[in-house]
Amino acid sequence: MDDNERFVGWLLREAIGSARGDAFRTLTVRPEGRLWLGRLAPEEKVERQRDRLGDRGERLDPCEVGIRVRLSAIDGRRIRCLARCVAWREVAGGWDKTRRLKVPIEIETPTQVGDVRVSGGAAIAAELSGVGADGLSAEVHAEVEVGKEGLDLVVTLVNVSPIEIPHIDTNLYEVELEVETGETQPFILEGLSDSFRYDRRVPAYGVNGGVAVVGPGAFATTDYAVHDKRRPVYWDEEVAGDLVDVSFGRLATEPVATLRELVDRFDHWTQTMWSDDELRRREHAERWDAETAGFAREQADLARAEVGRVRRGVDLLEGNQALCRAFALANEAFQRAHDKGAMPHTAWRPFQLGFVLANLSSLAGGDAGAERDIVDTLWFQTGGGKTETYLLFVMTAAFYDRLTGKGSGITSWARFPLRMLSLDQTQRFANVFAAAELVRAEAGIAGDPFTVGFLVGENGGTPNKMRRAPRPGEGTDINDPDLPRKFRILLRCPFCQSEDDLVVRFDQSRWALDHVCEARDCPWQGRPLPFRIVDEEIYRWLPTVVLGTLDKAANVSIQAGMRGLYAAPLGLCPLPDHGFTYAPRRGSNGCLYPGCNTRPHALTQPAERFAPNVRMQDELHLLRDSLGSVDAHYEALLDQLQRIAGSSPKMIASSATLAGHDDQVRALYRRDGRTFPLPGPLAARSFWSRDSEALSRRYVGLAPRGVTLEYANDQLVETMQNLVRQARDDPAGTSAAAGVSVDAIPELVSLYGVDVVYGSNLKDVEAAARSFEAQIPIPGLNPITLTGRTPLEDVRSALRRLKNPEPDFADRIHVIAASSMLSHGVDIDRLNVMVMWGVPLSTAEFIQTTARVGRSFPGLVFVLHKIARERDAGVFRVFPSFVEHADRLIDPVPITSKSRRILELTFAGLEQGRIYGIHEPQAVARALQPLTLPVRLRRGFDQLRVTEAAEAQALIDMLGVSGPLDENLRRDLAGYVRQFFRALRDPSTTAQWVSDLFPTGPPMRSLRDVEEQVPVYSQGGTP
Ligand SMILES: [Zn+2]
Ligand SMILES: [Zn+2]
Repeated sequence: MDDNERFVGWLLREAIGSARGDAFRTLTVRPEGRLWLGRLAPEEKVERQRDRLGDRGERLDPCEVGIRVRLSAIDGRRIRCLARCVAWREVAGGWDKTRRLKVPIEIETPTQVGDVRVSGGAAIAAELSGVGADGLSAEVHAEVEVGKEGLDLVVTLVNVSPIEIPHIDTNLYEVELEVETGETQPFILEGLSDSFRYDRRVPAYGVNGGVAVVGPGAFATTDYAVHDKRRPVYWDEEVAGDLVDVSFGRLATEPVATLRELVDRFDHWTQTMWSDDELRRREHAERWDAETAGFAREQADLARAEVGRVRRGVDLLEGNQALCRAFALANEAFQRAHDKGAMPHTAWRPFQLGFVLANLSSLAGGDAGAERDIVDTLWFQTGGGKTETYLLFVMTAAFYDRLTGKGSGITSWARFPLRMLSLDQTQRFANVFAAAELVRAEAGIAGDPFTVGFLVGENGGTPNKMRRAPRPGEGTDINDPDLPRKFRILLRCPFCQSEDDLVVRFDQSRWALDHVCEARDCPWQGRPLPFRIVDEEIYRWLPTVVLGTLDKAANVSIQAGMRGLYAAPLGLCPLPDHGFTYAPRRGSNGCLYPGCNTRPHALTQPAERFAPNVRMQDELHLLRDSLGSVDAHYEALLDQLQRIAGSSPKMIASSATLAGHDDQVRALYRRDGRTFPLPGPLAARSFWSRDSEALSRRYVGLAPRGVTLEYANDQLVETMQNLVRQARDDPAGTSAAAGVSVDAIPELVSLYGVDVVYGSNLKDVEAAARSFEAQIPIPGLNPITLTGRTPLEDVRSALRRLKNPEPDFADRIHVIAASSMLSHGVDIDRLNVMVMWGVPLSTAEFIQTTARVGRSFPGLVFVLHKIARERDAGVFRVFPSFVEHADRLIDPVPITSKSRRILELTFAGLEQGRIYGIHEPQAVARALQPLTLPVRLRRGFDQLRVTEAAEAQALIDMLGVSGPLDENLRRDLAGYVRQFFRALRDPSTTAQWVSDLFPTGPPMRSLRDVEEQVPVYSQGGTP
């Protein structure tokens, strides 16, 4: 155990002690209003409240604690208990605590259901009286109840004191019950079909609290329930042997030999851990039923198939020189980025290589077509390195493109959900692509410089286009003096990592908003960095990799220039730096450089090479509900447009939390799905990762007693903040108390000095924020609030401060009230303490959110249960199991692409997307007028022979609504198309724009328009 873990242990002990009262001998306030753990209310009080509160009253302020076990036999055995408690008495000037009583009690266990044995009342009352708490009393109850798997024994300690005694607080405090039950059997958690991976045994459950095993057949109540999550290591040395050298450097020089060795180890591991013999052994030892055993064998077949896929990747590298070179050059780029200090690591985690190898066949080789019909999802816990995995894959693809004649165009379009695209991620992409560009140039590989595009547009804080003195909504002013501040997206120069020499400025001659590094020794030497942030510049230059937010898919139906994201542009302007051209518009022949009406030249590379080879979706699980449903329609549109342009992209995705993956990707992308890696035969162990002994996160379940959640939160935060201040002010004393070295204290103060209070709804976040201001009596406490409403600039500045804390503790951020905006993409090593208000309704949110703490150091997560709620009470009862098995308790993602309500929203965009993507380019090719106005569209449709029937059929094919259950959707679609054509052909139309012709209104401007507004109705099939 290291200093960090010991410090976490100390924080927890102190926090619990402060809530229970261990830390105090006297109090100036009535204990009932101050202490919120380890207390028992008088039974009579609970009974009296039952009429009003029902069972909730008992949970909010319980009168008993205890344990629930399964005895080896219901045999009426006598068991020994030990009850501990203190009482509080009023004295002049405050309250005094009695010494802690320890009363041994024997009790006979009943043999009949409903029969309650009671013992110890007199002994406990006498002891209490002996310390001056006359009139208080408690007793031990033993009862046999019908449980899920037979009869359970429930033993509790019950406070049977009267409600009021003068000058005595009638609650009992610091209560603990220890029970020696003798031999028991474990409870078995109800399993899913893959339960063979998990140890489902639970030795005992707590009643109104946690339970600890203190010896064979001996249990004690605890005031909290705890589960320790272990930190994974990415190699199973025990079975796979010494780690293969998978450093960037070695893969850059000897890729095939290295990866062969890796695959051989993978093969060996799989043959060992998934062998028939091993499964038979476990089937017997763990008493699997037939269904479980059958399922395990199926999973073993899949595991062997996965080895085959990975091996095929190595074969491809060996047999395809260009692909092998691309992979090696990509590794060289990573090595270089590391040398510049832009990549923290020098080597891959094996699973990252496994994923890339398993998917190489979608880039090259005979199966590329078939492989692109499958969505491959990287499924790994947060913090594992999913972004880097994608980076390696896409960089290999980018080099392979350049080596096989694709000198221009987008290799990959990566989509991040709404606000989830972090500047850190963007910087990482820029860093490695900068290194890759140097590698490319030095190797003399032809083609455009590798460039990164940042496609988020005005919603996300970057310009759609730059104009001179634009009217509102018509672009960003090139003379805005705030440009350098507002649009600095990169934190550092990706080539030399200089922070101070990086500037943002507008270049009028190139008409480009550039990041420029002015460092004298920068390898890029002052040229505009290959990094584009203006939508229009992305259309003009088609960066190698485009990072964007998901909502930009709607632009396909707003901007003809989005064509480069699914097909080839229409031409190239011959003037320097003007870039690719699209359909002619007013005053232009298709060049997007303002005022240019030069005739475009033809493309110099085959048109079908332009479209992206890879479309990536980050945090796949967030594509749910109406957002997922709307996106599904736009994905279908993009697919159709790209297919007509002659290619199809590989879809890859990533997520840490998946349930119902295959159904989700079928709804989203109309493709089969596959996940990588396959979970190992044991939950904590696969070839790619296995739990180590090191603590990753300690989850502590708490149910505040007799006080509000707000009060408990204030107390907890106050305690945590006082503890770090104590550590700062008294390093020697803290070192002794916590068992950590004195030298470690400043670092510990930094790592554990920020508390995140997480609310899953805005009301809770606001309440927490108000508390920080008003209720926590710590002078100089610096709170901040982070929610979806926090301006982006404030978020950035907060993240910067958290990452690079002020030298003086007093100046730092101390507490953060945060909403779910924090639950993705925030990757800060200094967030290690969290207080969660209530269990979020979605288990995925629980996993994602708590993963924000303890990313590199042991984290501490307090879950304050809203114990009056049924769901929280249910989770609290099984808290350790809930945390351990959370990833299996995730609800399948609710999504359907077959919703009439969604079709009504997307129809205009789908049709307009076809006009921009298919019909207008054909019109331009035949020198007809662009299809921008109703009258031109009508004429164009006539000349191109676009008919209502063909258009309706194309939309039906696009969405795949051809089944017998899709009748309503087809009818809606046909109806919309009919109305659209009718409006188009109406001689008396007043429609000014094409968008006025759609019966459902104009195309959506952003996919985020639907968020949380539209209920999704499923039409048959899965909801
Ligand atoms: Zn530089
Ligand atoms: Zn031009």
